[in-house]
Amino acid sequence: MSVAAKVDGRMFVNGERAWAGSGKTFEAIDPATGEAFATVASGSKADVDAAVISARHAYEAGWALIPPVRRVRVLNRLAVLMREHSRELAELESLDVGKPLKQAEDDVTAASGYFEYFAGVADKVFGSSIPLGGGFVDFTLREPIGVSAQIVPWNYPLRLSSRGIAPALACGNGVVAKPAAEAGLSVVRIAELAVEAGVPKGVFNVVTGVGAEAGSAIASHPGINHITFTGSVPTGIAIMKAAADNVVPVTLELGGKSPNIIFADADLEKVAASAASTLMQNSAQTCTAPTRLLVERSGHDRLVDLLAQRIRQIRLGRGLENPDMGPVVSERQMRRVLGYIETGSREGAKALTGGGRSQKPELARGFFIEPTLLDAVAPGTVVEQEEIFGPVLTATTFESVDEAIAIANGTAYGLVTGIWTADLNKALKVATGVKSGQIRINGYGVEGSIGLPFGGYKRSGFGREQGVEALLNYTVLKNVMINFS
Ligand code: NAD
Repeated sequence: MSVAAKVDGRMFVNGERAWAGSGKTFEAIDPATGEAFATVASGSKADVDAAVISARHAYEAGWALIPPVRRVRVLNRLAVLMREHSRELAELESLDVGKPLKQAEDDVTAASGYFEYFAGVADKVFGSSIPLGGGFVDFTLREPIGVSAQIVPWNYPLRLSSRGIAPALACGNGVVAKPAAEAGLSVVRIAELAVEAGVPKGVFNVVTGVGAEAGSAIASHPGINHITFTGSVPTGIAIMKAAADNVVPVTLELGGKSPNIIFADADLEKVAASAASTLMQNSAQTCTAPTRLLVERSGHDRLVDLLAQRIRQIRLGRGLENPDMGPVVSERQMRRVLGYIETGSREGAKALTGGGRSQKPELARGFFIEPTLLDAVAPGTVVEQEEIFGPVLTATTFESVDEAIAIANGTAYGLVTGIWTADLNKALKVATGVKSGQIRINGYGVEGSIGLPFGGYKRSGFGREQGVEALLNYTVLKNVMINFS
């Protein structure tokens, strides 16, 4: 049976699959063909109400009260179950988002890794004791924050939902998740597997639906105690405003326009390989993608040459057929990205590779954009400033460390910065000068990155996910003073 034939488009509330109370649905579209492959429940306020009530009841009545060591076992079991269902989850993610199957399999590994990591800390959510002198004892407790809302974008439904849901569950909270309408069916499947792993029914709910309806009903719901939102800046602002009315804290993981600062003394072969993989990785629909190449002038020609050669070899195709690069997620996203490429050319940028929609007849129905390297991009231009969120890299030159820092800091974002150089002093000068939540020197990825605190400066958001810092989002600190004198 094909993966599409097996897709269940219902949401997951109170431990059961369910259609929306209103009966409303929408279609899930395969970005490689433009065709619908599933009918999905379109949740509204009534479904959100049911999910919030279910989450509150289930966490208060049991999940928050059990010895944390039992949560350790359950979350570890969930991680194992996810890996046992790796093929199924990866096929679903690949079909839904359009990404190559191998990348979707990596997403399953990373997503299950979040549950494993936070299972490991579920029984180590410590308070502290505070000395007050004779006759007094004082200590703090970290209690669950309550019902955690997890609003997730379409680019990495498995990874990004797990990033927030795993620590929320580890701390004993209830969860109401809402994946994006463009893609997010895998999130519902994780909730189902969670029940199989032993998470009590009702603790972990997923309401599928569109942002303006299901998303906004969650953001403004008085029964929600914390919102983790990953997505675009305008939606982040709307969510923060809605949460303000209920005095609810938010963690915002928003966009990025991450600079990749390359000095001429770096290993340019290695940089070119890494930059080409930025394009291939989910067609660069990745918030952390280092899409702004800032290249020291003396290394520029060699780097763009090496990079263009690699980009020309990238093979496009349907995600399920495991090409190097898949389509972008939707027709809307394709039009948006193509619009940016046109703007770049009006602004004087030169497309060294790609520059438009794929002309291959076999890809004509899908949302395929050729991997594009825009050279001679001036600082301050639209394509250098705005998040394109598609397979487009821009190249800009600099002459000095100070100029590199100034250009790197010259956008509204501050999520990640890549630095490539053989000179560690230079690297550290840049690392301390840029306003960015993460710095990656001489390598952009590392196994075990789940343990590294992640989040933004400026319009990239605030709050930190991953690592033990994430526990702060999902607990409230209570102080207890005892007078025994
Ligand atoms: P988006 O803001 O359009 O949507 C994100 C989620 O919010 C979806 O589930 C959507 O349905 C929901 N939503 C939309 N309007 C809403 C509203 N009014 N109230 C409540 N929820 C609403 O973002 P997107 O297009 O799905 O994702 C792309 C963006 O996400 C990019 O800007 C990207 O950089 C960002 N992103 C950030 C990170 C990070 O960790 N910093 C990771 C991935 C993606």
